[in-house]
Amino acid sequence: MSNLFTNALFGMSSLSSFSSKPKVSESTIWATTQKSVAGHSAITPTSKITSTAISTSISTSTSTSISASSNVFHSTDSSLAPTDPVSSSSSSVVDSASLPASMVLTDTPEISLKDVEMRYRTGTNEVLALHQVSLDIAKGEFVSLLGPSGCGKTTLLRLMADLLEPTSGELTVAGNSAREARLARKYGIVFQSPVLYDWRKVKHNVALPLEMMNVPRKEREEKVMELLELVGLGKFADKYPWQLSGGMQQRAAIARALAMEPEILLMDEPFSALDEFSRERLNEELLSIWNKVQNTIVFVTHSIPESVFLSDRVFVLSPHPGRLSAVVDIPLPRPRTAEMRNSPEFFELIANIRNSFEGV
Ligand code: ADP
Ligand code: MG
Repeated sequence: MSNLFTNALFGMSSLSSFSSKPKVSESTIWATTQKSVAGHSAITPTSKITSTAISTSISTSTSTSISASSNVFHSTDSSLAPTDPVSSSSSSVVDSASLPASMVLTDTPEISLKDVEMRYRTGTNEVLALHQVSLDIAKGEFVSLLGPSGCGKTTLLRLMADLLEPTSGELTVAGNSAREARLARKYGIVFQSPVLYDWRKVKHNVALPLEMMNVPRKEREEKVMELLELVGLGKFADKYPWQLSGGMQQRAAIARALAMEPEILLMDEPFSALDEFSRERLNEELLSIWNKVQNTIVFVTHSIPESVFLSDRVFVLSPHPGRLSAVVDIPLPRPRTAEMRNSPEFFELIANIRNSFEGV
């Protein structure tokens, strides 16, 4: 893979070495259900966790009123205590017999992690970046990885993208290895910085992955215009990146990431450099894009409101060591509207998540 191609697909300058990883067993830590036809039903984790159910009802500006329940699942695994991060082990067991039928895993998860651990070694130093992370993400789900700086969000995303390999544990994508998923071009990646080439017009930046794949010119041009329309940049195809605002540049990066029609879109704090107004607008636009593209999105953020607004579920990561400390269902109806940001349910979810951090 050439550097140019690597940059185009991943927005990064280097990849780690690749090697096969073991396939995951049929057992899983979290039991999930797929999205309902009507919308995005709760995908509920279970295992060695406790849950707090809070009934809420949501009224939107269009007078839609629904009943929803919001669940925060806290890990109770004592091995996650920050005081003894390394020595203890955690292995969770699914007691599926105790689950409601709707919560039993029926399909292979799109992304599955089981006891994933990641240590960085620099010289004699070792950093435990992620400790015993287990989670499942369903196909078509929108999830956020939320946490403060240094809790391992980027590491987790890079593991999913096969840009890093876990020190231990199992990570599979649709039942296969992350490497196979990468080679099958299942991933699109968007980073905090849009990584556009200043000397290329917007349309040529978006076309880059298609050029590298030798997609015929006419087909390529049609696809690029389609993508630019999708992200609201149809009129800016012939501009250069430096002629666009930060938000527009990031939309171009999203269009480029979608060029290969990835099943999984991995986004690492894509809007965190933007002002609050642009960010909220981009959040709404991203949901509208997702609604059309219907892929799986893993979205990294340190903003609680952003994670609530966007997600079906929020994976809360806590630091020292980086670990999954809670999984929060977001039962707000879809399509999500700007007015929902002012609803009591929205604030309640924010409070639930804020209370679920550990050691911050
Ligand atoms: P986040 O994205 O949540 O800010 P990161 O995944 O970037 O967190 O980092 C998690 C931890 O791993 C931090 O303590 C960070 O310093 C460390 N870390 C990340 N990348 C490396 C690396 N390449 N070498 C050594 N330590 C790293
Ligand atoms: Mg990061």
